[in-house]
Amino acid sequence: MKHYFLGLAANYSRRRRLTHTFAVGHEKDRQELKKFLEKKYDGEAILTKNGRSALALALKAYFEPGDGIIVNGFTCYAVYEAVKAAELIPIWADINKENLNFDINSLGIALAAMCSTEHEDLARAARSVSGGHAAANAIPKGIVIQNSLGNPVDIGQIEKFAKKHDLVIIEDLAHSVGVKYPDGREAGTVGAATALSFGKDKSIDTISGGAVILRHPYKNAIEAPSKVPKISDTLRARFYPLFGAIARGLSYIKLSGPWMRMLIKIHWVEKSADNKLDLERKIAKFEAKIALKQLKEHSKKPLRTFFLVKDRGELIKKLQKNGYYFGGFWYEKPVSPERYYKKVHFPEEECPVATEVSKKIINLPTFYSKKDLEKAHKIIEEYLEEDK
Ligand SMILES: *Cc1c(COP(=O)(O)O)cnc(C)c1O
Repeated sequence: MKHYFLGLAANYSRRRRLTHTFAVGHEKDRQELKKFLEKKYDGEAILTKNGRSALALALKAYFEPGDGIIVNGFTCYAVYEAVKAAELIPIWADINKENLNFDINSLGIALAAMCSTEHEDLARAARSVSGGHAAANAIPKGIVIQNSLGNPVDIGQIEKFAKKHDLVIIEDLAHSVGVKYPDGREAGTVGAATALSFGKDKSIDTISGGAVILRHPYKNAIEAPSKVPKISDTLRARFYPLFGAIARGLSYIKLSGPWMRMLIKIHWVEKSADNKLDLERKIAKFEAKIALKQLKEHSKKPLRTFFLVKDRGELIKKLQKNGYYFGGFWYEKPVSPERYYKKVHFPEEECPVATEVSKKIINLPTFYSKKDLEKAHKIIEEYLEEDK
C-alpha cells in the first residue's frame, strides 16, 4: 500500500481540524495571547496578520529607512518583504551546512564585502543600479537571527559580534519557538525584539497570524494594527486544514493536484508566499485563541530534518513513486519560492554555500512519525552527499 505524504496541514489530526474550523474566538483571546507573550518574552507584544508583518514592525521600530540589515542568506521571501516594507537594505550573509545559519565567519565576510566600497556616492550609485538591493555600503545597523528549521545559531558568538559592530539583534522565531541556544537561553529572549509567525507549517501553526515582542526601547513610534481582518482571509485560514485533508484523501486517486489548483484559482486557498504583508490588520480572534493554546502546549521538536543530497530531481521522482509527494521543501532557492526569487537580486557569488545548499537540500517535517518516514529515509540514504 502506498503511503501518501502531503505537506498540506498534515500535522492536523481530525480533531484538531474540527476545533480549528469551528473555533469561536473573542476579543479577550487576543488580550490573553498578548499577555502570555509579554510575560514569556518580557516586552510589549503586538499581534499581527502574519509573521512578515510582525517582522516588518520590529524592523520599523529600531531602524531608519536606508539602514543595512544583515539577514540569513537562506530564507523565504516573507523575510525579504519585511525588510522592504521597513525600507531597509538587505545584507545577505552566507550560511554553513551544519545548521543552515550564518556564523561569525560568514558575518565577517559579509561585513568586509560591504565596506569595500569607500565612497558614499559610489555606494549610492551601486544601490540605485541594482534597484536598491545591493548591500554595497549600506551601513549595517542590525541583524536578523533565523535559527533555520529550528537549528539554533551560536548566540554567544553572534552577540559578541553584534556588540562589536553596534548591531541591534532581532530574533525571527518562525522556525524556532521554544528552541534553546547552545548556552541554554531560550530563542526569543536575547535580542531587542522577537517576531513570531503562526503561519502554515511554522512552529506555531494556526494557518496565519503573527506577533512581535518589542523588548528594548525603540526609536520609532509603532502603531498596533487596528483594522479587523478581511473576511476572505479568515475564511481561507479556517478552511485550509479541511481542504488539505480532502486533498490528501484525493491523492489516492491522483486528484489532489487538480483539487488544490482549482482552490488556488478561485482564491479559496492561498500559497503561503502570497499571504500579503499588512501592518493594519489584526490577527483573527479564533487564530489568537488557537495560538495561545499551542504556545502553552508547545513541544520542542525541531521543525524539519534536512539532508543534502545529490540528484535531487531523481530522488524526488523516486520518492513520489513510493507515495511520498513533496509539495515543496525549504528552500529550493536561497530566497524562496522560485517564482519570487528574481525580485530579490540575491548575490549568489557572495553566498556560495546557500546557493549550493538550495540545490541539494531536502527536508521532512518532523510531525510525521518515524514509521511513516521509514521508507523515505531509506530511499534518501542512497542519495546523501558524501561529506555530510
Ligand atoms: C514563514 C516565515 C516568516 C513569516 O511568515 P508569514 O507568517 O508567512 O508571514 C518569517 N521568517 C521566516 C524564516 C519564515 O520561514
